[in-house]
Amino acid sequence: MIIIGVKGTHDIYNNEACEFSYVENVMKRISEIFAFTEVRPPVLEHSELFVRSVGESSDVVRKEMYTFLDKGDRSLTLRPEFTAGIARLIVQNKLTNLQELPIKMYYCGPVFRYERPQLGRYRQFNQFGVECIGHDNPIADVDVISLAFTILQSLGLDNVTLKINTLGDEESRNNYRDALKEYFSKRIDKMCPDCKQRLELNPLRILDCKVPEDKEIVKDAPKMSNYLTDAAKEKFKYILSLLEEMAIPYEVDDTLVRGLDYYSDVVFEFHYKSSKGNDYGAIGAGGHYDKLIKEVGGPDVPGVGFSFGVERLVSVLKDDELIPNDVYNNLEFYVMPMGAKYQPTGIAVANIIRMNGYSVDMCLDDIKLGSMFKRAEKKNAKFAIIIGENEVANGKVILKNLHTQEQLEVKLNDLKDTIDELFEEHECCCGDDCDCDCEEEGHECHCHCHDKKEN
Ligand code: AMP
Repeated sequence: MIIIGVKGTHDIYNNEACEFSYVENVMKRISEIFAFTEVRPPVLEHSELFVRSVGESSDVVRKEMYTFLDKGDRSLTLRPEFTAGIARLIVQNKLTNLQELPIKMYYCGPVFRYERPQLGRYRQFNQFGVECIGHDNPIADVDVISLAFTILQSLGLDNVTLKINTLGDEESRNNYRDALKEYFSKRIDKMCPDCKQRLELNPLRILDCKVPEDKEIVKDAPKMSNYLTDAAKEKFKYILSLLEEMAIPYEVDDTLVRGLDYYSDVVFEFHYKSSKGNDYGAIGAGGHYDKLIKEVGGPDVPGVGFSFGVERLVSVLKDDELIPNDVYNNLEFYVMPMGAKYQPTGIAVANIIRMNGYSVDMCLDDIKLGSMFKRAEKKNAKFAIIIGENEVANGKVILKNLHTQEQLEVKLNDLKDTIDELFEEHECCCGDDCDCDCEEEGHECHCHCHDKKEN
């Protein structure tokens, strides 16, 4: 019997793995340009960390955590998000004493949530995000939003809507919570059992309820904007003015509250509609948190961060055909020994070329030349290296350009120089530097940059 993968997980391989790497590398590069450095917290944490930080009233903690007792009877949880683990790491390693503030870190890796699997929603999925911890200057909030925006632009996603709101300071949220409690207490009999619990634990969470009848009641609930203190209003206004100065378009959405309890002040989501009209909802989200570091035993310093769902980003980019052609594994050479006895020469030649920095694969089966060409084509190899009786006898190989079909005999001693010449950059007819042969008379252009221009 075949053992299949766990429900809600998915396998990422071949071209899709290239697409994930591409997206992750763009996000890493831009984050490093913004002076964030990489952090790799463990996947396993004590369950209490998430209960205390993400919050007992959140769906993530109440329903979605992969929690179990280990052999030492400790309650452990597979991280459902990164922020709490990074807060723990910063406090435990006393980084707020040791490093200049704010501490700026980016992360990338799997998270686990026991959700109902559906299109674009998994139980194990990947998040990329950043945290900027330890400074209360609102410019830190704007810097993080600007980083998220720059990442999306660098990926070519222009059709993004930044929805933004403020949850205010502690006083604003206490006032708002009281107002929500009063409003929902009168209507709670008609609401779902989850909302009854939410009313006790944190009435703000009722605003996230997905039950259609409850959504109707939520529509007329008091609005956060009416309960903000003057200081909270001023701070939000300042943040919006900075976004305007930086030409980052936004929409204020006063229904936006975010599902994790640690947020305060500014919160935001990036929404995306593909050019085909598919609505992907939130592809990333984040916000400011005042008390999280203190909550996990550290000093009273705030933080701000965001997180993108990598699966969502890859789907969106594929939908809008925004993944560049050159992200896929394009093999440079495919070595084709014409018979098993030429395979040792084949692997030796392959290794000579590899040592010079070119990618090489070799056919390990004793099959006909035509079948080997089909394999080379399937691997999208640029050149074939053919080795048979004559070649071995004369210390030569046949080098065939699989785009132009031209071939030449090359002495083994000259192989390195010949290959270097083939890959020398030159001005292509498309105006870019690439390794095609189009500048030579009569050669058709097959380079990717040219393909892109044609399209
Ligand atoms: P959150 O930590 O809930 O704010 O989620 C941040 C981002 O992760 C979302 O905007 C989605 O892009 C992505 N995401 C959240 N839940 C899932 C899921 N179950 N499967 C895939 N992506 C998800």
